[in-house]
Amino acid sequence: MPNKILFCGDPHGCFANIISAVHKYRPEAVILLGDFNLEVPLENYLRTIIGMTRSIGFRGNHDFDSTAEHENLFHSALSYNNLHLKVVEVGGLRIAGLGGIFMGRIWMPGEIPKWVDKKHWLKHQPNSVAKIPLHLDAAIWHHEFESMKKQIRADILVTHEAPSCHRHGFEAIDELGKAIGAKHIFHGHHHVYYSDKLSGGIEVTGVAIGGVTNLAGEQLIKR
Ligand SMILES: [Zn+2]
Repeated sequence: MPNKILFCGDPHGCFANIISAVHKYRPEAVILLGDFNLEVPLENYLRTIIGMTRSIGFRGNHDFDSTAEHENLFHSALSYNNLHLKVVEVGGLRIAGLGGIFMGRIWMPGEIPKWVDKKHWLKHQPNSVAKIPLHLDAAIWHHEFESMKKQIRADILVTHEAPSCHRHGFEAIDELGKAIGAKHIFHGHHHVYYSDKLSGGIEVTGVAIGGVTNLAGEQLIKR
C-alpha cells in the first residue's frame, strides 16, 4: 500500500494537486513538506478533504514571511498537526519531522553554533525583545536538532532541508536520518523531484514544488 501516505512538495499557495491526490488515492495521511504561503487560513484551502485524511506538516522558510502567513498556518482551525521536532504514527509507520532551514546566524552545520539555545539568544537581546522573532523561529536550532537525534526513533524522516545527495543539501540531515533509524528521507525546499540513496543505505526522495509522491518515492502528480 505505497499510497497510504502521500508526501507533498512546497505548495506555495497552490493546493489543487494535494486535493486531487487525496480524492484519487484516499491516503491515511498527507505530509506537507513546508512553504505553504497561505493568504487565508489553511482550512479554507483544504476544505474538501477535511475528514478524508490527516494533514500533517511543518514550516518551511517561507511560512514566516509575515505574521498573517504564520497565523494562517499555526492558528488554523483545521486540526493541523505540526510535525516539527516530533513523531507521528500513521498506518504502523513512525514519521519524524524537521521543519525550517539552517541559518548562519543561528547554526550552520560544520560550524560552532552561535547560540547554546533560545534562552541564550534572548539573554543577549535588548529587554524589549521578549520572544524569538518569527523569521528566526524558522531556523534549525542546534540544541533542538541534537535532542531530536537523541530522543526520536522513526522509520521515515521528513524535512524541508535536503540531505547531502542534493547539491544544496547537508550531511547533518544524513546524520539525523541515521541517528533516528530512518530508512527513507523525504524533503521539499528545492522544488525538484528525484530519488537517490545515501551511502548508509537510506533512500532519499526530493518532492517537487506542488508535486505529490508516495511511500515508494514514486511521483504520482507533477505540478
Ligand atoms: Zn519552496
